[in-house]
Amino acid sequence: MTTFTMTIDGRAVAGHATFDVVNPATGEAFAEAPECDREQLDAAMVSAQAAFRDWRDDLDRRRQVMHACADALLARAEELARIATLEQGMPLSNARRGVQRAADSFRRYAALELPRTVVQDDHEALVEVVRRPIGVIAAIKPWNVPIAMAVNTIAPAFRAGCSVVLKPSPFTPLATLKLGEILRGAAPAGTLNVVSGGNDLGQWMTEHPTPRGVSFTGSVATGKRVNVSAAADLKRVLLELGGNDAAIVLDDMDPVDVADRLYWRAFGNSGQICMAVKRLYVPESMYGAVVDALATKARTTRVGNGLDADTELGPVNNRPQFERIAGLVDGAVRAGAHVAAGGRALEGAGYFYEPTILSEAAEGMPIVDEEQFGPALPVLSYASVDDAVHRANDSTFGLGASVWSADPDRAAALAERLEAGTVWINTHGMLGHAQPFAGTKWSGLGAENGIWSVHAFTEPQTIYHAR
Ligand code: NAD
Repeated sequence: MTTFTMTIDGRAVAGHATFDVVNPATGEAFAEAPECDREQLDAAMVSAQAAFRDWRDDLDRRRQVMHACADALLARAEELARIATLEQGMPLSNARRGVQRAADSFRRYAALELPRTVVQDDHEALVEVVRRPIGVIAAIKPWNVPIAMAVNTIAPAFRAGCSVVLKPSPFTPLATLKLGEILRGAAPAGTLNVVSGGNDLGQWMTEHPTPRGVSFTGSVATGKRVNVSAAADLKRVLLELGGNDAAIVLDDMDPVDVADRLYWRAFGNSGQICMAVKRLYVPESMYGAVVDALATKARTTRVGNGLDADTELGPVNNRPQFERIAGLVDGAVRAGAHVAAGGRALEGAGYFYEPTILSEAAEGMPIVDEEQFGPALPVLSYASVDDAVHRANDSTFGLGASVWSADPDRAAALAERLEAGTVWINTHGMLGHAQPFAGTKWSGLGAENGIWSVHAFTEPQTIYHAR
């Protein structure tokens, strides 16, 4: 079995213990990851703190390093992408795109300007505001898109001048450990430390006195714990949490066309995307036609091992999540939903679940009220647009939402009524490099992406020049 190493102070570090990593396409363990102990975490924190001293003051160097990171990633893109597919399950083509995007992201943050702002310039004083990096960032990540999640923090943290101690999910530690290995030659020792372990390790990180900021992506339940733990030490937090995104189709859309365009916005990465469509609201007048069109798409989707070239949809990432999806679908059916397509696990090894369209779904069913994070979409009918808006907003989540209409003005007017950090019109889940990404309500705290991530890892510093 292949063993992977952590990156601490620029060196490869093995664990005193290891844990198995399972390939979700086979259900079998295929590699081992190191279990970071407290002393090793301390060493990573000491190294990150020491590296921060020079790193923060040398933007030119950081820019060179970020380009070197992009080059290093691209040089080993295939190796990294295969590991991501083996541990996560996603189609290899998606994993390859993920590596390319990660490299692009390093280059974009390297080019990003953080302007000094002059807020006063008169006979009394020149007062400028600059952004000062906050220090070591503890980054804790989920299992759905490991490489993107890691670089979402590393690249803006580097641009800001922060050093990083990064922990991937125990379900998908390998691509992130490999990323650490690949970047050892590019990033100065201590600027990026990658450690792996279970949930306890995440808690040790949030309780540790060294980090000044926590960049957490994961579930609402864990995010709340992270926030409480960070608050005890007044650490800054950036929380990107779960979503239960509603998509509202208006009655001026063609049912087949809208189903065609919506389908992959719900089922991409087997639904394991925070900003996937997770509840679909359709007018009564076209409900049957939309359900039928979605069901046809679901039945013709090629589900399989992500390493097979013609696979469109991989497995669910892990057994608990696989069982949760099955439980949510079974529960919805018991409560009166109808399976229009899918509705069961595929026979054989691995955590494969048929892409599932549930009609006659309604609020009160956990698959509607909670985040399913898997390949099953509940479709709900609505009587009036006001009714749809009210039901879409009646949620503790507020990550994303979308409106689908042939009339851009009508859609735009509706968009602003939706309680979500991002509202898309005639698409869903698109994240351009300059747009802020932030959840309202329980979907997060703080904004990330582009300049907003750099702001999260810096604070304003006022320089007052007396005259
Ligand atoms: P999770 O909350 O179970 O775990 C996330 C990470 O937190 C893991 O590394 C885990 O080991 C660690 N952890 C667990 N307990 C901890 C604790 N007490 N203290 C510190 N760290 C701890 O989430 P998951 O199941 O891995 O990921 C799925 C969730 O992530 C979904 O809800 C999804 O919507 C969300 N997500 C959100 C975004 C976003 O940007 N908003 C992006 C991707 C995923």
